[in-house]
Amino acid sequence: MEELKMVKNIFKTVAVVGTGVIGRGWIRVFTRAGCHTRIYDIDSSQTHKTLDWVKRDLNRDVSDDIISSQQAQACLSLISLHTDLEEALTGAQYVQESCPEQLEIKQSIFSKMDEISPSNVILSSSTSGMDIEDIAGGLRGASRCFTAHPCNPPHVLPVVEMMPTKALDSVLLEKAIDFLSGVGQKPIRMNFFIPGYLVNRIQAAVVREAIHLVQSGVAGVEAVDTVISDGLGLRWAIFGNFGTNNTNADGGIREYYNRFGQTYINLMKELDSNPPDFDKEMIEQIGQGVDTMEGDAPISDICRWRDRMILKIRKLKEQDPHP
Ligand code: NAD
Repeated sequence: MEELKMVKNIFKTVAVVGTGVIGRGWIRVFTRAGCHTRIYDIDSSQTHKTLDWVKRDLNRDVSDDIISSQQAQACLSLISLHTDLEEALTGAQYVQESCPEQLEIKQSIFSKMDEISPSNVILSSSTSGMDIEDIAGGLRGASRCFTAHPCNPPHVLPVVEMMPTKALDSVLLEKAIDFLSGVGQKPIRMNFFIPGYLVNRIQAAVVREAIHLVQSGVAGVEAVDTVISDGLGLRWAIFGNFGTNNTNADGGIREYYNRFGQTYINLMKELDSNPPDFDKEMIEQIGQGVDTMEGDAPISDICRWRDRMILKIRKLKEQDPHP
C-alpha cells in the first residue's frame, strides 16, 4: 500500500491554479505528500468537477488496494476550493500554475500572481512548450518563476522538467527542486530552453518514425507498438536511452558506440526527413489501427489500467534498485 509521505519543514501549503487534466494530477501529488492544497480555477464549476474527479480517483485507489480509505480521506481533507486567486494564494509557499497553453493567459496569470504573493513564494508553470522567459521574464519577481513541466498524469509519472528564467535565483531553484523531490517527483534540470523541452522532443522523434513506418506500409500499428511495449520500452522503463546502450555490449557504452556507431549513422541517414502531415487520411489510418489493437474498452478504463501498471513497475523498481 502506498505510504502517505509527509513533507518535512518545507512548503506545507501550496496552491494549484488551473484545475484541468494536469492541475488535478498535481492536487493528487501535493495532498499525497501531506500539503494543504488550495485550488483555484477561473471557471469555479471546474474546481467542483475536479474535486469529484479526485474523490473518484482516490476511491479507485482504495479499491485497488493502493491506499487505505483513511489515507484517501486525509488527502481530501487537505484540499480547499477558492473562487478568488488572491484568496487561493494566501499562505501558499509554492504555486503550480496549470492553465491553458496560451501565452497571453500564462503572462496575465503570472503577472497577477507576482503582484499578489510575497517575493519568496515560488511560482511554477506546467507549460509543456513555452519558454518561462516569455511568460515571466519581464516581471519584478522573475527570479522566483520556473517551468516545472510534468508528464501526464503527474501523480503517476514522477519526472518534472525544471527551467528557470534568466533572472535565476539558484537558491530558490534548489528549494523548488528539493520540494518537488520531497513530494515524490523526479525533477530534472535543463540548462537552457529548447522548444518542447526534453520530453516532447524525444517523444516527437519516436512518434515521427512510428507514423512513417505505418504510413509507408512497413508494418501495422500493432506491430510498431509491440516493438516498444514488448521490446524497447521494457528496457527504457528501467534505464532510459544511454543506460540501455550501456548494456548492449559487454564492454559498456564505449564499446557499443564504437562497434555500432556506423550502423547508427547509416540508419539515421535513412530516417524519413519529412515530418508527417497529420492530415485526415493519416490520422484515420492510425486511428483504425489503434481501434483494432485496443478493442472497445473506454479510454478512461485503459488510462486507469495504465496508471495501475505504471505504479506496479515503479514499486518493482523501488524493491529491486539499480545495483
Ligand atoms: P486543461 O484545459 O485540461 O485545463 C486548464 C484549466 O485552466 C481549465 O480548467 C481552465 O478553466 C483553467 N483556466 C483557464 N484560464 C485560467 C485562468 N486565467 N486562471 C485560472 N484557471 C484558468 O489543460 P491541461 O491539459 O491541464 O494543461 C494545462 C497546462 O499543463 C498547459 O500549459 C499544458 O501545456 C501543460 N501540460 C499538459 C499536459 C497534458 O498531457 N495535458 C502534459 C504536461 C503539461
